[in-house]
Amino acid sequence: ILPCLLAVCLKCILCVSPGKVRWQDFDQDLYVGATVVRPGQDPYARNKFNQVESDKLRMDRAVPDTRHDHCRHKQWKSELPASSVVITFHNEARSALLRTVVSVLKKSPSHLVKEIILVDDYSDNPEDGALLGKIEKVRVLRNDRREGLMRSRVRGADAATAPVLTFLDSHCECNDHWLEPLLERVAEDKTRVVSPIIDVINMDNFQYVGASADLKGGFDWNLVFKWDYMTLDQRRARQGNPIAPIKTPMIAGGLFVMDKEYFELLGKYDMMMDVWGGENLEISFRVWQCGGSLEIIPCSRVGHVFRKQHPYTFPGGSGTVFASIQSRLEMKKRLGCKPFKWYLENVYPELRVPDHQDIAFGALQQGGNCLDTLGHFADGVVGVYECHNAGGNQEWALTKDKSVKHMDLCLTVVDRTASSLIKLQGCRENDSRQKWEQIESNSKLRHVGSNLCLDSRSARMGGLTVEVCSPSLNQQWKFTLNLQS
Ligand code: UDP
Ligand code: MN
Repeated sequence: ILPCLLAVCLKCILCVSPGKVRWQDFDQDLYVGATVVRPGQDPYARNKFNQVESDKLRMDRAVPDTRHDHCRHKQWKSELPASSVVITFHNEARSALLRTVVSVLKKSPSHLVKEIILVDDYSDNPEDGALLGKIEKVRVLRNDRREGLMRSRVRGADAATAPVLTFLDSHCECNDHWLEPLLERVAEDKTRVVSPIIDVINMDNFQYVGASADLKGGFDWNLVFKWDYMTLDQRRARQGNPIAPIKTPMIAGGLFVMDKEYFELLGKYDMMMDVWGGENLEISFRVWQCGGSLEIIPCSRVGHVFRKQHPYTFPGGSGTVFASIQSRLEMKKRLGCKPFKWYLENVYPELRVPDHQDIAFGALQQGGNCLDTLGHFADGVVGVYECHNAGGNQEWALTKDKSVKHMDLCLTVVDRTASSLIKLQGCRENDSRQKWEQIESNSKLRHVGSNLCLDSRSARMGGLTVEVCSPSLNQQWKFTLNLQS
């Protein structure tokens, strides 16, 4: 009986199941060493981030605590529901995947992580995932064909045994006490879907950099996710409580926590979505419209490697990743979800919505610069400024009655001779000085009355002018969105 007691005790001290090892005992060098970048190979080729720099780091490297000071003194409830962490991956760099897993285990109270479910979305090498199955709490599921991230996440969620789901990308690093504040919000109200602030792991040198706490998630009319800087009023309102949850119209998508039953009730993900993308907009609309809410929790910080390209292919082409949404519409009806108009008016009032008068809309772009009011009003000139994607002074519409409009100010050709400055003036119906049209496949703007083109050659010496139309790059302007082809 004594050896038996000893065995039980040992097991409970080490707290790992038979056949498993603690993360501290996992052989990182053996696992990562098998797939290092060989001399002469491009370190970006496989992952579109610098794999050499990633491979150099220890699996439990220290990262700076990027939280607001107030978070450090806060006490989190210890009686919280446990979570299943679901991480899907396709050909992830081993070092990055391992760091994700280890950071979850190292930075979370043990009783709050029931399991880590790795869903290997048909990576070339099955061992990338399988070998990690050795680590305590890690379960590995492998797809026998490429399913894409949405069906892979649903597979992981279906296999989860804890009441709360936590989704992470396969190249993340969780920061101190990242999990408790997220679980606390969900435990209080199951209809809250919550995200950490997503810190930046630099894709070139893998430095961990804290992100601004003044951002919300949004989108533009190409349906591309973007970060919106909070308005001055919103920032002022938070000064008294800088760590309060931030209601957000949209989540970035890869990193969030959601009650498992609620995830199921709301229809998980659309199983007809392939590969990657769009699912973050879709689930964000659905959560808000169907009675839930989305929040960013400032005391929770998780780093993510942001990159500029996808390292993987889109089988069948990137235009064919969406299918019929009939069954999803029926489901929303069954759930009694509110209309999209309600979402726009109540959840994302900051978003300017193109109306039926608009032909083209958004920023008016010339390379990396955008047409900008420079903060001027009536009788002011206009210029260009580096595109910031935040609307504001760079938001323009070309309307059916041919005006180029910013709020109720219109681009006006006061003097119809070449090289004369364009002014902002209050829009007037039937004023020929304010009539413009797009020409040459919507690549230029021509003033109808003078046949001169909008030109930026004097932008830094007075303002935008009209000039004789020419192939000059100074006359190339592109709206974010053209509503007519
Ligand atoms: N992913 C996947 N299957 C796919 C495409 C992506 O499992 O077909 C995984 C990928 O490995 C990553 C997550 O989905 O863990 C999100 O993809 P990615 O990081 O490329 O998106 P981004 O963060 O750049 O938006
Ligand atoms: Mn990612």
